[in-house]
Amino acid sequence: MEETLEFTAETGKLLNIVANALYSEKEVFVRELVSNASDACDRLRFEAISKPDLLKNHGGFAIYIFPDAPGNQLTFIDTGIGMNRKDVIENLGTIARSGTGKFLEKLAKSSDKAKNDETNRSNMPDMIGQFGVGFYSALMVADSIELKSLKAGSNKIVRWFTKGDGKYTISEQGDKKDFGKDFDLPHPLTCGTIITLNMKKQADEYLESSRLNHIVRTYANHINVPVILQKDSGGSEQVNDSEALWLKPKSEITPENYEDFYHSETMLFDKSWVNMHFHAEGMLDYYGLLFIPSKRPFDLFYPEKISRIKLYVKRVFITDNCESLIPNWLRFVAGVIDASDIDLNISREMIQSSPVLTKIKNNIVKRVSNALKSKLSEDIDSYRDFFTEFGAVLKEGLCDPMEAQKTEILPLILAYSLKQQKLISLDNYIDNMQTEQDNIYFLTGENITLMQQSPHLENAKNKDYDVLLLNDPVDEFWPNLIGTYREKNFLSVQSSDDSETEEEIKPTENMQILLDRFTESLKENLQNVRLSHQLQSSPVRLVVGKGNSPRLERLMRVHRAEQDNVNQRILEINPNHALIQALAEKSQSQETIQDVDDAIYLLYEQARMIDGDAPSDIANFSQKLNRLMEKSYL
Ligand code: ADP
Ligand code: MG
Repeated sequence: MEETLEFTAETGKLLNIVANALYSEKEVFVRELVSNASDACDRLRFEAISKPDLLKNHGGFAIYIFPDAPGNQLTFIDTGIGMNRKDVIENLGTIARSGTGKFLEKLAKSSDKAKNDETNRSNMPDMIGQFGVGFYSALMVADSIELKSLKAGSNKIVRWFTKGDGKYTISEQGDKKDFGKDFDLPHPLTCGTIITLNMKKQADEYLESSRLNHIVRTYANHINVPVILQKDSGGSEQVNDSEALWLKPKSEITPENYEDFYHSETMLFDKSWVNMHFHAEGMLDYYGLLFIPSKRPFDLFYPEKISRIKLYVKRVFITDNCESLIPNWLRFVAGVIDASDIDLNISREMIQSSPVLTKIKNNIVKRVSNALKSKLSEDIDSYRDFFTEFGAVLKEGLCDPMEAQKTEILPLILAYSLKQQKLISLDNYIDNMQTEQDNIYFLTGENITLMQQSPHLENAKNKDYDVLLLNDPVDEFWPNLIGTYREKNFLSVQSSDDSETEEEIKPTENMQILLDRFTESLKENLQNVRLSHQLQSSPVRLVVGKGNSPRLERLMRVHRAEQDNVNQRILEINPNHALIQALAEKSQSQETIQDVDDAIYLLYEQARMIDGDAPSDIANFSQKLNRLMEKSYL
């Protein structure tokens, strides 16, 4: 006897949307059906603990996929728990799942949008990947679905059929002995489910075994049931590894196993630097197998690459683009998180925004920073290599206004020490500060070797203070944004704040005339000219007043960014320098004033060049330089 029933209103709506409004990433229907099949096996395995009879004559857990291209059908068979009539109606006729209403609303909204707006269609694929449309996703590729199921311990086969048009038929039919007889199976079925999709014309790619093989490997490589695919060329093969390395005890895993997994799972081909294999229990239950690479992946700085961590739920792949799993500044961490305690019944969309993931994320950050910290303290040389590759990414976290965990990051930062001539930690810097020193001094620039010659370092060298030389673009931002570490202020030796505190120098009469001359000829370019005791061997330097550092200005020019504070430099003059004293002398007389003006120009341009800028007018620069040389040589 066959009965025709209607889907509940919500389900009907969902079917419509799924079948008509989703355009690509249709392949996830394989994931959904295989994950259901694997759940069904897990459930029977569990039931059989108390009722061992359920597994009598059971041929073992497996999922079979039979593509039939000539017949235009694709069949999935599992040897799991199966469903009786009541189960089928409950499970497939209604969507009694939490969050479903919300999910439908969102899906409906975005599919309306997509229909109205051709260009918006490209957003749709993401959605299907994230939502758990589950069983019904088969309607993206199939005109109709037939499901036959035999529940473990039952004698009746249920047949269920729908064209996805709001109705389904259900009947009980056939002899238990004949269940699965139409297929070439290694063992007669004693229970389980057979799902046959009558494929849409344009979905015939899913009837190719090579395509199916690839999809199964992508989404279900680690479910613990073998997936056996019938090949186009005849015969069949197991396509998944059916082993989840992260679930195995560490004692059974060799370093080679880890390394193979790293390469096959992450598609990174360097040697991994650190691996973290853990099982978190308690409030949250999840497994993790994470790696820190030793070399920068080529796409590390592609902004669209958010995460290299694959999220699994109970061994079923969910997504490899889960923003809520790892902060941006740790985006080089690769591997797998298997959140075994997220309920697979909630939609993928809900998983993405689930508070559980936020907690997992926080735990991962802790774990990774602890691993980094212990590397830093145990093997600083190796940590230096790591930092050379990934330090710039860590430092991005210090600049992110949304990043709440900046205090986790600072102890992980290394910077090049002027005194020690190598990368050191901020803690090392602070521990070695002079007793009277309040500031963490730093200098930014492109090239560490050149920076070491900078006049900005003279005062610190004189006082025996260390200076951190920073040469990543991101270094232009974080020290000012962070402000302090362990109650010490970050202070650029190039900033006017550093020298403003010193007592004012009373110029001699000659020196005042020279100072005025400097001011007069450079007033277009400078905020101010002043005498300073900061300099030891250089005659002049340019310090930064309110504006950006020269390096930052250059960066902004490269990116064509608007700049409003370009000329906020202060020229500091060293009154004790022989050249400056000679110029002060020469500025007394009209005869030599031209020489003084040339020298002022050259000194100013030199100061700019030392900070990494090119001469503003090379012709003028060489003309003046040549004139001075002629004077001394001819
Ligand atoms: P979910 O898997 O998230 O519950 P689905 O739409 O994928 O949602 O499946 C709905 C329900 O149908 C499942 O929860 C399960 O009870 C039942 N089901 C689907 N496929 C099978 C199967 N192969 N064997 C047994 N039960 C199944
Ligand atoms: Mg499912």
